[in-house]
Amino acid sequence: MRSPMLEGKVALITGGASGIGECTAKLFSQHGAKVAIADIHDELGHSITNSIGPSNSTYIHCDVTNENHVKSTIDKTISTYGKLDIMFNNAGISDDRMKPRIMDIEKTDFERVLSINVTGVFLGMKHASRVMVPARGGTIISMASVASGIGGSATHAYTCSKHAVVGLTRNLAVELGQFGIRVNCLSPYALATPLSKKHMGYDDEGLEAAMNHIANLKGTTLKAIDVANAALFLASDEAKYVSGQNLFIDGGFGIATSAFK
Ligand code: NAD
Repeated sequence: MRSPMLEGKVALITGGASGIGECTAKLFSQHGAKVAIADIHDELGHSITNSIGPSNSTYIHCDVTNENHVKSTIDKTISTYGKLDIMFNNAGISDDRMKPRIMDIEKTDFERVLSINVTGVFLGMKHASRVMVPARGGTIISMASVASGIGGSATHAYTCSKHAVVGLTRNLAVELGQFGIRVNCLSPYALATPLSKKHMGYDDEGLEAAMNHIANLKGTTLKAIDVANAALFLASDEAKYVSGQNLFIDGGFGIATSAFK
């Protein structure tokens, strides 16, 4: 393995019980970080921390839409590990109840996606800032999507939510730069995880075939580890002058769309 990039760091990952969050938790731990996983899926969360090792990771039940949960999760991370260096606001849902036509969308379904994908990120940013500002350091990474840069790749609420993550990221990077805190977000292309499986309505085999079909970079499909590696870079001191950025992990897909130019 490469030399550890996060030795001595403490990371909190929301939505760390599955998919990209799970993969990132394992990678951060392999790179020397203590990792707190926050999720609503308790059974999965505990099994991930068990596989990482209880001395290097802890699971905390946290619904990212609940401000008390987010606040106490950050406080518990600090009481367990003494500090918070890396906040990864990764938890998110697809809009599987959404209809493609705006006139058919229920307000409650629209708000449900925004409450997890946007308010959840806002609360993570808010309470991470509460502890990082006095510490004069840290880094905040949030999960956007390729849908943050274009219309039409997802339905209305999801696209809107991921554009909003970029807006929050840019604003907060400006606010927190004076304290030495970097704020960035990630925009992956589609990859096979439980989220995309639900969103696209496939079983495992169908999902793999769909990913091969839509793959943008010839000969390869995007994997969770590719996104985790991008998070690792942004979380590490190697990215010490990178802030306010939306890093696309899309095999070049975005440069083919006018919205990204
Ligand atoms: P996933 O479903 O495997 O993981 C999402 C995790 O978030 C789950 O563990 C789930 O329990 C958790 N979660 C959901 N609601 C929560 C809440 N209210 N509070 C706390 N945790 C909650 O999905 P994934 O594909 O790994 O997605 C992770 C992030 O990546 C999401 O923000 C998603 O929008 C984004 N993303 C995914 C893809 C893709 O194709 N899979 C592409 C671009 C961006």
